[in-house]
Amino acid sequence: MSGPERELLLEAFDSNWIAPLGPFVDRFERETCARIGSRAAAALSSGTAALHLALLALGVEKGDSVICSSFTFAASAYAISYIGAEPVFIDSDTESWNIDPDLLEEELHDCAIRGKLPKAAIIVDLYGQCADFDRILAICASYEIPVIEDAAEALGARYRDRNAGTLGTLSVLSFNGNKIITTSGGGMLLSDDETAIARVKKMSTQARDDAPHYQHSAVGYNYRMSNLLAAVGVGQLQSIDDRVERRRANFARYERMLGDMPGIRFMPEPSWSRSNRWLTCLTIDPLAFGASREEVRVALESENIESRPLWKPMHLQPVYQDCRMRGGRVSALLFERGLCLPSGSAMAEEDFERVERAIHRVPAVRAHK
Ligand SMILES: *Cc1c(COP(=O)(O)O)cnc(C)c1O
Repeated sequence: MSGPERELLLEAFDSNWIAPLGPFVDRFERETCARIGSRAAAALSSGTAALHLALLALGVEKGDSVICSSFTFAASAYAISYIGAEPVFIDSDTESWNIDPDLLEEELHDCAIRGKLPKAAIIVDLYGQCADFDRILAICASYEIPVIEDAAEALGARYRDRNAGTLGTLSVLSFNGNKIITTSGGGMLLSDDETAIARVKKMSTQARDDAPHYQHSAVGYNYRMSNLLAAVGVGQLQSIDDRVERRRANFARYERMLGDMPGIRFMPEPSWSRSNRWLTCLTIDPLAFGASREEVRVALESENIESRPLWKPMHLQPVYQDCRMRGGRVSALLFERGLCLPSGSAMAEEDFERVERAIHRVPAVRAHK
C-alpha cells in the first residue's frame, strides 16, 4: 500500500456501501479510464473474470477456436476453456517475448484455407511489455478477428503513444496481489465500445433484466468488484507513475550490475515499447555463464532470496498438451533459461547488493565442485 488507501477504504466502510457496487466502483472505473484513455470500463472480481466476460461479449461459443499467446500465465487460456472453446497457441518473438506477428499471420492464413477462422485472439502484454499491436491489429483486422488485450501485467506500460489497456477491442487489467497495483483481488474490462461494457456489467451482476422483480433472460455471473476493494484501487491508482519509475529503476540497477556477465541477457525493450518493468527478467546461457538458470535459482534460494523461472508456456503444460501450437522453440528456450529476479517497488540498495553477490558467486562455486 502506498498511503491514501487506508483512508479511502475507511471512507467506503463508514459510508456503509459494503455490498458489491457503490460509488467507489464507479470512481475507480472513471479514474482508470481517464488515466489510460479508455471510454468505458467494468470493475470485476478478477482479471480471469474479465477475460471470461470478454470472450462471452464477443460471442465466443463452445467448439470455437481462439488464438492465445503460448508464453503467458495460465489464466490467459483458462477463460477459453471455461466456454468449451479451443485455444490455438502461438509462439513468442525474440524482440519482445510476446506473440510473434509472423506466426500469427501464418496461422490465420492456414485457418482461412481450412475454412475455419478463430473467433477471437487473446494477445498478452507479458511482464509489463506490450505486444507489437500495430502489426497484430492489422493482421487480425484483415481476417475480421476481434482482439482481446490481456494487459493484466501491463498497467502503466506504453505502446508507441498509447497506453496498455487501450490496445484491444476489449482490454483486461488485473489487480491481483502480485500485480503492479492491487486491490488484493480484482480486475477490469475496458473498451471504447460503451454498449459492450454495459452488456458486460449486466452479465457480471447475475444478468438481471430491467424489471421490478427478479427477471433473467440469460445466464449471468457474480463477477463484480466490491465497493470496499474499489476504494483501495482508487488509492493505488494514484501511485502508478511512481511504481513504474521504481520498477524501471530496479531493472536498470540490475542491468548495471549483471549486464556485463557472460551469458546473461535482460528482457529486450523494442523501440516502440515503454515497459512498466513489472518484473526484472533475464535469461542465462549455461555454457557462457558457467551455470544453469536452475543452479542460479537454487543458489539464490539457499540464501533466502526468492526468484522464479519465467512462465512455462501453455503448449508445454499437461492441461493443454493436445492443443494446436504454431512454433514453440522461442518460448520453450525462454522457459529453460529465464529467471525473474526480486522486483518489488520497495527494494533497497542492500537488497540489490545481496542478489548481486549471490549471482556473481554461482559460476565460481560451480567450477570448484
Ligand atoms: C494475473 C494474470 C491474469 C489473471 O488475473 P487475476 O486477476 O489473477 O485473475 C491473466 N493474465 C495474465 C497474463 C496474468 O498475469
